[in-house]
Amino acid sequence: AIRISNLVKRFGEFTAVRDVNISVPRGAFLVLVGPSGCGKSTLLRMLAGLEAPSSGSISFEGRVVSSGEAGVVADAGARDAGLVFQSYALWPHMTVSGNIAWPLKVAGWSKAKREDRIEEVLNFLGIFALRDRYPAEISGGQQQRVAIARTIAPRPRILLFDEPLSNLDAKLRIEMRSELMRIHRATGATSVYVTHDQVEAMTMASHVAVLNNGAVEQFGSPIDLLRYPHTTFVASFLGTPP
Ligand code: ATP
Ligand code: MG
Repeated sequence: AIRISNLVKRFGEFTAVRDVNISVPRGAFLVLVGPSGCGKSTLLRMLAGLEAPSSGSISFEGRVVSSGEAGVVADAGARDAGLVFQSYALWPHMTVSGNIAWPLKVAGWSKAKREDRIEEVLNFLGIFALRDRYPAEISGGQQQRVAIARTIAPRPRILLFDEPLSNLDAKLRIEMRSELMRIHRATGATSVYVTHDQVEAMTMASHVAVLNNGAVEQFGSPIDLLRYPHTTFVASFLGTPP
């Protein structure tokens, strides 16, 4: 479960995230959607512990992981969260297996346990044949699979995605949507997924928060938002008449 309470982020005079309140149960697939600059990445970076809130708090499974008073209470490992970015950020000098092994090493897994887990996630993502290649020797779509494999390998309870499909072509993007849903379900994690793509939001989400100017315009299920948009912004952003 994730609980975001009265969350605010200011950069100097500018407020990027204003008083966000969102709660989702364990296993939810929360999509943060909204136009460029509305604060999606800033909110996700706070969830990841990469940025401290100006005020308000975030808790995972009932435990405060960030707060305006205490800053970032738990680092990425301690908050049990894994992050997948738009740019895959693979280590170029390490093979596919080496990339996936790295976070397991950092987390102190034994060599035997690491090898089992690496084989499992390689198979799960359909990239076992690529295990000894270097990132420069595989396609962009394959690199994204490796990045996802690396993120899920340590079994984080929370998965955070920032527009992970935006560098892929349209066909691959649609294929990867269902792939990500499969991964989300299989891991049993609670996921937060940032996109500016309405179709992606509506097809993937269990819960959607539409952001505008740093604030949540509406939070609910995809069906609720489509049927009962609360504001003309939500209606026009989702492409439904108010
Ligand atoms: P996009 O869809 O383009 O990725 P976004 O919704 O992810 O946009 P954010 O990156 O969260 O938007 O940025 C929200 C606002 O906060 C923007 O106006 C941005 O310029 C501002 N901002 C983000 N990070 C900083 C920073 N470190 N310092 C100052 N302003 C920032
Ligand atoms: Mg962004």
